[in-house]
Amino acid sequence: MKKELSKTEARKKIEDYFKQDNLNNSQTRKIKRLSMKYKIRLGDYRKRFCKKCLLDLKDGKIRIDKFYKIAECKCGFKNRFKIS
Ligand SMILES: [Zn+2]
Repeated sequence: MKKELSKTEARKKIEDYFKQDNLNNSQTRKIKRLSMKYKIRLGDYRKRFCKKCLLDLKDGKIRIDKFYKIAECKCGFKNRFKIS
Protein backbone atom coordinates (compact mmCIF):
# COMPACT_ATOMS: atom_id res chain seq x y z
CA MET A 1 0.00 0.00 0.00
CA LYS A 2 1.29 3.42 -0.90
CA LYS A 3 1.52 5.87 1.92
CA GLU A 4 0.67 9.48 1.27
CA LEU A 5 3.23 11.91 2.56
CA SER A 6 2.45 15.11 4.29
CA LYS A 7 3.89 18.23 2.76
CA THR A 8 6.48 18.48 5.53
CA GLU A 9 7.54 14.89 4.96
CA ALA A 10 7.79 15.46 1.24
CA ARG A 11 9.91 18.56 1.77
CA LYS A 12 12.20 16.67 4.10
CA LYS A 13 12.58 13.90 1.57
CA ILE A 14 13.59 16.42 -1.06
CA GLU A 15 16.06 18.15 1.24
CA ASP A 16 17.59 14.84 2.26
CA TYR A 17 17.95 13.85 -1.35
CA PHE A 18 19.90 16.96 -2.27
CA LYS A 19 22.23 16.54 0.70
CA GLN A 20 24.06 13.82 -1.14
CA ASP A 21 26.89 14.60 -3.50
CA ASN A 22 25.88 12.36 -6.33
CA LEU A 23 22.49 12.67 -7.88
CA ASN A 24 21.00 9.88 -9.87
CA ASN A 25 18.74 10.87 -12.72
CA SER A 26 15.99 8.36 -12.09
CA GLN A 27 15.90 9.43 -8.45
CA THR A 28 15.95 13.07 -9.50
CA ARG A 29 12.93 12.40 -11.69
CA LYS A 30 11.04 11.00 -8.71
CA ILE A 31 12.02 13.93 -6.54
CA LYS A 32 10.95 16.36 -9.23
CA ARG A 33 7.60 14.65 -9.50
CA LEU A 34 7.25 14.78 -5.74
CA SER A 35 7.98 18.48 -5.68
CA MET A 36 5.36 19.13 -8.34
CA LYS A 37 2.77 17.02 -6.59
CA TYR A 38 3.26 18.86 -3.32
CA LYS A 39 3.96 22.20 -4.99
CA ILE A 40 7.31 22.52 -3.30
CA ARG A 41 9.74 24.88 -4.98
CA LEU A 42 13.10 23.35 -5.70
CA GLY A 43 14.79 26.74 -5.77
CA ASP A 44 18.55 26.39 -5.90
CA TYR A 45 18.31 22.62 -6.05
CA ARG A 46 17.28 23.02 -9.67
CA LYS A 47 20.80 24.10 -10.47
CA ARG A 48 22.08 20.70 -9.46
CA PHE A 49 20.69 18.78 -12.40
CA CYS A 50 20.16 19.16 -16.14
CA LYS A 51 16.76 20.48 -17.16
CA LYS A 52 16.63 18.15 -20.11
CA CYS A 53 18.00 14.80 -19.01
CA LEU A 54 18.16 15.34 -15.23
CA LEU A 55 21.77 14.26 -14.97
CA ASP A 56 23.91 15.66 -12.19
CA LEU A 57 25.50 18.87 -13.46
CA LYS A 58 28.54 18.80 -11.28
CA ASP A 59 30.64 17.10 -13.98
CA GLY A 60 29.55 19.52 -16.65
CA LYS A 61 31.34 22.55 -17.95
CA ILE A 62 30.38 25.79 -16.31
CA ARG A 63 30.62 29.17 -17.90
CA ILE A 64 29.66 32.47 -16.45
CA ASP A 65 28.62 35.41 -18.54
CA LYS A 66 27.22 38.74 -17.52
CA PHE A 67 23.78 37.62 -16.47
CA TYR A 68 23.80 33.88 -16.63
CA LYS A 69 25.62 30.90 -15.36
CA ILE A 70 25.66 28.36 -18.14
CA ALA A 71 26.16 24.76 -17.18
CA GLU A 72 26.67 22.46 -20.10
CA CYS A 73 25.50 18.93 -19.47
CA LYS A 74 27.00 15.78 -20.85
CA CYS A 75 23.91 15.45 -23.06
CA GLY A 76 24.88 18.71 -24.72
CA PHE A 77 22.07 20.76 -23.29
CA LYS A 78 23.07 24.17 -21.96
CA ASN A 79 21.34 24.99 -18.73
CA ARG A 80 21.14 28.69 -18.11
CA PHE A 81 20.62 30.08 -14.66
CA LYS A 82 20.16 33.70 -13.93
CA ILE A 83 22.76 35.04 -11.57
CA SER A 84 21.03 36.83 -8.78
ZN1 LIG B 1 21.54 16.80 -19.81
